[in-house]
Amino acid sequence: MGAVEKMGTGTTDNLVDEQWASVCSRLRMEIGEAAYQSWVKPMTVRGVRDGQVRISVPTRFMRDWVVAHYADRLFTLWNGEDAAIRAVDVFVQPERYQETSAPPDEKDSAAAARPATAYNGGRYNDDLSAPLDRRFTFENFVVGKPNEFAYAAAHRVAEATTVLFNPLFLYGGVGLGKTHLMHAIAWHIRAADPSRTVVYLSAEKFMYRFIRALREKNTMDFKDQFRSVDVLMIDDVQFISGKDSTQEEFFHTFNALVDQGRQIVISADKSPSDLEGMEERLRSRLSCGLVGDIHATTYELRLGILQSKAEQMGVEVPGKVMEFLAHKITANVRELEGALNRIVAHAQLVGRSISVETTQEVIHDLLRANDRRVTIEEIQKRVASHFNIRLSDMHSARRARSVARPRQVAMYLAKQLTSRSLPEIGRKFGGRDHTTVMHAVRKVDELREYDSGFAEDVELLRRMLEG
Ligand code: ADP
Ligand code: MG
Repeated sequence: MGAVEKMGTGTTDNLVDEQWASVCSRLRMEIGEAAYQSWVKPMTVRGVRDGQVRISVPTRFMRDWVVAHYADRLFTLWNGEDAAIRAVDVFVQPERYQETSAPPDEKDSAAAARPATAYNGGRYNDDLSAPLDRRFTFENFVVGKPNEFAYAAAHRVAEATTVLFNPLFLYGGVGLGKTHLMHAIAWHIRAADPSRTVVYLSAEKFMYRFIRALREKNTMDFKDQFRSVDVLMIDDVQFISGKDSTQEEFFHTFNALVDQGRQIVISADKSPSDLEGMEERLRSRLSCGLVGDIHATTYELRLGILQSKAEQMGVEVPGKVMEFLAHKITANVRELEGALNRIVAHAQLVGRSISVETTQEVIHDLLRANDRRVTIEEIQKRVASHFNIRLSDMHSARRARSVARPRQVAMYLAKQLTSRSLPEIGRKFGGRDHTTVMHAVRKVDELREYDSGFAEDVELLRRMLEG
């Protein structure tokens, strides 16, 4: 097990020894022998002071990894041994200092048991890469039908030592785990081979840096920086669309990296072909690797995620409450997490246990917002029955006014009431082009202007769908 340095602290050494031994053996069972040898064994307990366990590790990289992966467990296990423990502090103390017990470098110290803080993942291109969230690891990612393909692809890229598919393009709606998977790839690669440079960046940051470089007439440096990375990850590239010079630069950086056999990982809220305002050559370049989409969550996945999060938080949440949440909060995982956090915080604050009734009270605003969300399918059904046409006519090629008009109304409402893009809407209407949808939206707007009966129809449908 990891060592205990004799320091003569408040708690007697023997006691700390015993507690550490027991924490170690629990951890060993939980994480397996290999991980135990790599990460737990090199830890040295320096003592316990003011309810804080102080643990040193020999390198900064190890500190980052331990904090990212084991901090919460370390704390929970230690707290189970001694309820007076309020925090576990992991800091860096290079091997050469260990004999002399020189004071650790306080700057390098990170309070490990503070939950949910973004944490910078290491010394690799700190100035270029954005901080990584320590909770966003593969271990913490719950896999289900909607995300299994994206997960498998991300995991393959993280494990690979050669470039497999370039780029890996991950897409899906907000809050479904794109950023989580990207951070997981970064954590994984940094752990497996610290010599590889992994840069993770939002597309907005990328753009901002590029524009700054332009202003400072420093674009050469900008290019060199990016061209020396092994793995480049750009999150939310839909933000690059429309900005011509940034697109151009992104395209060149992209090509240069691909030519040099570097791995690129991209995320967006839409598939490459649906990205509006994206230049054609960039779009086709983006789609020539592997495209993995993350679908909307299913009830089973939501339940799995809730169980996993509750366990991580170390709280008891009744099964009934989790089922209720999984049924009701369907929009995305971020909202689901938010709901769980609020319920737990509320229960702890008022000191009462969690029930379906209190849950309904505490998150009534979220519940209402989730009720209101409409799908394109519902819109099609409602509109078809309102105008007395067949549902299949929403997808059919028939052009008779009697079916074409209701179809246009449905497209219009889909644009107004959902967050779907024009191409996505087009596809749901029998694979029509996005220009057809655009035309429908304009046509309906126009008709509403001079036909008040029609305007009322549309308004009525909207209210029914929203109600
Ligand atoms: P996106 O980037 O797609 O908008 P994020 O990756 O930021 O979404 O995910 C939103 C939140 O939901 C994060 O806290 C993330 O950890 C969590 N999350 C999403 N999918 C999963 C999953 N499959 N398992 C566990 N947590 C998830
Ligand atoms: Mg994201």
